[in-house]
Amino acid sequence: MQYQGVLTKMQTEIGSPIQYYLVFESDFIHINQLLDKKVSIAFVGYQCLACGKNKKIFRQGYCYDDFYNQPQVGDWVMRPELSTAHLGVEDRDLEFEKKAQLQPHIVYLANSSNVKVGVTRKSQVPTRWIDQGAHEAIEIVEVPNRYLAGITEVALKDQVADKTNWRTMLKNEIVDEDLVAFKDKMKSFIPGEVKEYFIENGKETKLDFPVLRYPDKLKSLNLEKTPEYAGVLKGIKGQYLIFEDNTVFNVRNNEGYVVRLTIN
Ligand SMILES: [Zn+2]
Repeated sequence: MQYQGVLTKMQTEIGSPIQYYLVFESDFIHINQLLDKKVSIAFVGYQCLACGKNKKIFRQGYCYDDFYNQPQVGDWVMRPELSTAHLGVEDRDLEFEKKAQLQPHIVYLANSSNVKVGVTRKSQVPTRWIDQGAHEAIEIVEVPNRYLAGITEVALKDQVADKTNWRTMLKNEIVDEDLVAFKDKMKSFIPGEVKEYFIENGKETKLDFPVLRYPDKLKSLNLEKTPEYAGVLKGIKGQYLIFEDNTVFNVRNNEGYVVRLTIN
């Protein structure tokens, strides 16, 4: 079977294990069904997710110009505390920002390689945790806008990491933590204006990834250096495809790349 399309992050469905899908314009590929099969990936070109042109991808699926113009990649996305839609202040497109920022947000703890704090729109739970490759996660607060989530994250960053070690996550060198106890320890560090939003009786969510074999060392596939790759798919975790020869491919980091997939 052969498919061609522009990569965007894999769609997921919670389950035991989690189900992964790659969505191309004319195909919907269920990646779990490719486990133990030989998958070839060939780099065909670029297709910017905004302008659609064959321009080199700069970041997050966008060409350079669109990365600095599109409202969905403003600074407040990576740094929620910079959100200003609740004040009626525009960054790039106030209508877009109001829709994105003025909706329920969750500050959470997720354990992928270590316990880290993060922010997501409520509608993206548990998708966000799956994308990070977290094997367990818990909600700390639910707030009405992105700004309040952002200032909470900043306050908690002094207590807990805000980065994941993707190598540890992919090798599955993980430790189970008591996230309920962790969350309760965080309570006193939550900013005053957010304290009323603390979730008192939350439970841990456990996530089960479809991985037959974890890699013992890691080689990251870069399509610009290796435009044709073939290997036997052994697992999917976070937004990574894991192959038998220890090659890992970060689908999300390759958004906007047009590829041809061949399955044998
Ligand atoms: Zn573009």
